[in-house]
Amino acid sequence: MIIQYADTNVGPGFFSELGKEELLISSIFFTIQGEGPYCGCPSVFIRFAGCNRGNKAIMGCTFCDTDFRTSHALKMSFGQIELAARDLYRSKSSPKADRPLIVITGGEPMMQDNIVGLIEYLMGARWMDIQIESNGDRIADRFLDHPICRESFLVVSPKVVGGIYRPLREEVFTRADAIKFVIDAEPRSPYSNVPDYAHDEPDKIILSPMTVYKRAVAEGEIASAWNVDLVDQNATRANYAYAAALALRQGFRLSMQQHLFYGVP
Ligand code: SF4
Repeated sequence: MIIQYADTNVGPGFFSELGKEELLISSIFFTIQGEGPYCGCPSVFIRFAGCNRGNKAIMGCTFCDTDFRTSHALKMSFGQIELAARDLYRSKSSPKADRPLIVITGGEPMMQDNIVGLIEYLMGARWMDIQIESNGDRIADRFLDHPICRESFLVVSPKVVGGIYRPLREEVFTRADAIKFVIDAEPRSPYSNVPDYAHDEPDKIILSPMTVYKRAVAEGEIASAWNVDLVDQNATRANYAYAAALALRQGFRLSMQQHLFYGVP
């Protein structure tokens, strides 16, 4: 098993010294959303630093290929984040392009309570739609009750802990617009099936076959499914076939990690 970009686990307390309009950010980049309901949409990604499961080896997220290390992150104000996202979008896409999508992801963006302020700030600028990706373990203070946050699209991707899925809090299950599960064909893996609660609202459920790496993605390298030195194509193909069969059998949608085929970050 290849563990990439392991970090320490962080909770909301880790960010308590940030100013009221500040966030710890790993990267902001323009790409094509490769997963979930907005798959294929040109998007500006805002990657928050830190995750409560950052110690990937211990927390069971051994498949996670994301670099959200807090030691490599930058403290940014809401204004700096909005400006960076706007400049990226304007410089790289056609002026006639549709309303862009901003994807707020991590790490685990719900560990930073200032996410709510950022959503307010971005929505105030009114030039984009917002999708948030979260593992659903914790939802930032004020997010569930805030009227402007209800305008954002929430994708929850629960992860196992100690080899099992814990129940998703009812209010998180209800608020989630989509719930995505990583799928592994290995029968002993806790990711070989979805938890029972997924069957309560099958229309929300998306299955995402796990990509299996042969080695860690190098610093600055764009991960590609076509790269036979990087991706274990036999194991990954088996996960795709298994996830497709599961989706057909259980009535869920299937979504691949398409960005791995585009050659974009
Ligand atoms: S919860 Fe998500 S971002 Fe965090 S380590 Fe697991 S897969 Fe990666």
